Amino acid sequence: MKKVLILGSTGSIGKATIEVIEANKKDFFITGLVARSNENLLLQQAKKFNVKNICLTESKNLEEKYISEANLEDLISSDQVDIVVAAISGVAGLKNILSAVRAGKRVLIANKEPLVAAGKILMKEAKRFNAEIIPIDSEHCAIHQCLTNIEKKDLKRIIITCSGGPFLGKSLKSLKNVSVKDALNHPVWKMGSKNLIDSASLMNKALEIIEAKWLFNLESEQIDVIIHPQGIIHSMVETIDNSILAVMSEPDMKICIAYGLGYPNKIDNSSSPLNFKENNSLEFINIDQMDFPSVNFARDALDLGGIFPAVMNAANEVAVEKFVNDEIKFDLIFDTIKHAMDEFKREEILNEPSLEQIISADEKARLISLNFIRNIS
Ligand code: NDP
Ligand code: MG
Repeated sequence: MKKVLILGSTGSIGKATIEVIEANKKDFFITGLVARSNENLLLQQAKKFNVKNICLTESKNLEEKYISEANLEDLISSDQVDIVVAAISGVAGLKNILSAVRAGKRVLIANKEPLVAAGKILMKEAKRFNAEIIPIDSEHCAIHQCLTNIEKKDLKRIIITCSGGPFLGKSLKSLKNVSVKDALNHPVWKMGSKNLIDSASLMNKALEIIEAKWLFNLESEQIDVIIHPQGIIHSMVETIDNSILAVMSEPDMKICIAYGLGYPNKIDNSSSPLNFKENNSLEFINIDQMDFPSVNFARDALDLGGIFPAVMNAANEVAVEKFVNDEIKFDLIFDTIKHAMDEFKREEILNEPSLEQIISADEKARLISLNFIRNIS
């Protein structure tokens, strides 16, 4: 029986994780649930699964029924937890992921932003503390699966697929006045609002390129992106003999979550099998067909290295929140990221930033981005 702690249990990935665990009651049980402010749902989940350890990070009154954030850290490191599912949104999830890694746990990571900002440190610590990081972001989960039994010397490149989001085929110029509702309208996936906006702006792919770099220890040139609107192929791996391995399924995050929980065994996940009669065509479109600067930001951040991925991510988090609150236009997301990255280019480049330096760059990039938005709008 494996004991699972879910960070972000009230979100899209959190709820899907609970469904997978429900389908595998004999092998997994929930030992802790964490959310930010959705008290009703958190309490409902805790009651249904009889979970004693619950944490509400934005709870004003520290009631007895909740454990504090400090106690959460202790819980993560204790033998009450075997597997941590990281499904908080944003770099806010970094601290808990690091604790889980340093306690040598199996960590299923959907929460990509901490990997973008501090992936090098997380992977190094995972090695040092013998932790098992298993990506459950669908693309990286597919690549993880494809890479099983491929030796590093035989790997040529990975090809991350991208649905293109709701604005596939549109020029950036034509999207100046899109509404939040338009941007949240993803053709393939149901997700939380941050990930949906990132999918519309293609910043999700920018984050995923950097996420892949650290997870699989690749050079930027070994990471390609292709638009595949059907979202059936979740990503691919090409070996030096030009053969390509791909993972295909219906787009359903439960498949990825079950992969991570059961690895290396396959477990039930209450998903539907791929229907070839309905999904009878697979298209591929060059990412250059979309004139969004997102992928270039990621390439730039990787070339510059150090704190730049964290800066790119922080500026994006700030801008997405402002866009979702209807305070800025869609294309200002890109202007904000560019501005923050340009500001940091004037400073001394740090090759091997410490965790503290990364966190302080993240905080500074947020302030720079907020000021930029305030001055422009
Ligand atoms: P949601 O917005 O649906 O859920 C986020 C969850 O995290 C909620 O439970 C929320 O609590 C909680 N949360 C947010 N901030 C904090 C915080 N500071 N402390 C504690 N809890 C917090 O997001 P998703 O489930 O869509 O995504 C989660 C992560 O997984 C993201 O990083 C996303 O990029 C990644 N991901 C998601 C995919 C998807 O299909 N949804 C696919 C691939 C990756 P509350 O409800 O109380 O606000
Ligand atoms: Mg993804």
